[in-house]
Amino acid sequence: MSNVYEQKINDFMAKVIAKNPSEVEFHQAVHEVVESIIPFIDENPQYADAKILDRIVEPERVLMFRVPWLDDKGEVQVNRGFRIEMNSAIGPYKGGLRFHPTVNLGILKFLAFEQVFKNSLTTLPMGGGKGGSDFDPKGKSDNEVMRFTQSFMAELFRHIGPNTDVPAGDIGVGGREIGFLFGMYKKLRNEFTGVLTGKGIEWGGSLIRPEATGYGTVYFAEEMLKTRGDSMKGKVCTISGSGNVAQYACEKATEFGAKVVTLSDSSGYIYDKDGIDAEKLAFVMELKNVKRGRIKEYADKYGADFFPGKRPWEVKCDVAMPCATQNEVNEEEAKMLMENGCFVVSEGANMPSSPEAITVYQNAKILYGLGKAANAGGVAVSGLEMSQNSMRFGWTREEVNEKLHQIMKDIHSTCVEWGKEGDYIDYVKGANIGGFVKVADAMIAQGVV
Ligand code: NDP
Repeated sequence: MSNVYEQKINDFMAKVIAKNPSEVEFHQAVHEVVESIIPFIDENPQYADAKILDRIVEPERVLMFRVPWLDDKGEVQVNRGFRIEMNSAIGPYKGGLRFHPTVNLGILKFLAFEQVFKNSLTTLPMGGGKGGSDFDPKGKSDNEVMRFTQSFMAELFRHIGPNTDVPAGDIGVGGREIGFLFGMYKKLRNEFTGVLTGKGIEWGGSLIRPEATGYGTVYFAEEMLKTRGDSMKGKVCTISGSGNVAQYACEKATEFGAKVVTLSDSSGYIYDKDGIDAEKLAFVMELKNVKRGRIKEYADKYGADFFPGKRPWEVKCDVAMPCATQNEVNEEEAKMLMENGCFVVSEGANMPSSPEAITVYQNAKILYGLGKAANAGGVAVSGLEMSQNSMRFGWTREEVNEKLHQIMKDIHSTCVEWGKEGDYIDYVKGANIGGFVKVADAMIAQGVV
């Protein structure tokens, strides 16, 4: 990159950092985008004239609120709730809610910012948002989770609606939490609407929504492999996490003929050299979604290895799919992956690779599908859930899966269109520019608002 661009990027980042001090994940997400966008804007001055970059890093609205609730002992607990309404240029704010003790303003702003570009890439009319709380569902009873989510919704309901802001799940927010949130919203508003996605199938949910992010990540990997005349068949895969995204990435990868050898949680990872087949995955789903246990129990049951406190990137693989959380692959781990022959990284999680890790992938010219493209399948099917709610009609499993598959192919094509550099496809550049153009054009068309 030329020195002129580097100077412009540094100047822009200095402003962002000064305005949003200590929000390090937000700085990281913005930096990754402006590295692609600033050279592009230089050739397309209408975006500079309209100050699109300055506007797009500023949330339209940030909500932050107290969430008091009573635990099972009758003691008062207090958490903090958030909703970041980042950008509504192309549709209602859309993005998940995360319940995790690490949640803070900077993390949610990074996620909301990423969501704007991701949602644009899906081709569906959705703006970007994100929210959540520092509440930790781990170790809480179902009743405690219900009381907390009801208190959370008792404030959030004022700000959301099917044409305004439509939250969904993320880390720590699955079917159980969406159910409690929806029940409270319905009670407070006295209306049954598509205000949340990820709903149960009996009450407005879409088939394939639980599977969508994980399946989409594998579809994206398959598309990347096709550019080299290859496929997932016979590939050894490492996956991190063992929650929603990891489970369905594992299922689809196995269905495509790959062998998944790792899963993890925050206590460590399991390595199963024989592969995690359908029966073993059913055990993981029961363990994680119903019993809410630890991944180590997999090793105890199947005689696999368990590595406490470690991440799976030291394991030899062809394809790595980080599906747990942000910054879970650092430079050293990225180098380890490359040295062991990994040549595909498809990110189910949001921003799981550190900037240094991304540089390692780019220097090695591997197939690197960044989260905002590779994990967009989840929000894409959320968009399809919104359409089905509006139509009061439901598509079959096959129909939704077909649409999801097509959307992932289209996202891949957009990345190729904007990111192709000779023989190499820079998916980072492709996804950032491809996601940016539609939002920026809509912002210009709508005037200075
Ligand atoms: P879940 O809560 O279902 O699972 C999260 C998994 O990641 C768990 O195995 C959890 O382990 C692990 N994990 C979470 N935080 C950490 C941490 N700090 N260190 C190590 N492990 C951690 O969440 P999802 O599967 O829904 O989300 C996973 C990732 O995918 C996130 O980055 C999310 O933003 C992203 N994503 C999710 C989408 C969705 O549709 N759900 C859509 C697009 C992206 P433990 O149980 O021990 O905490």
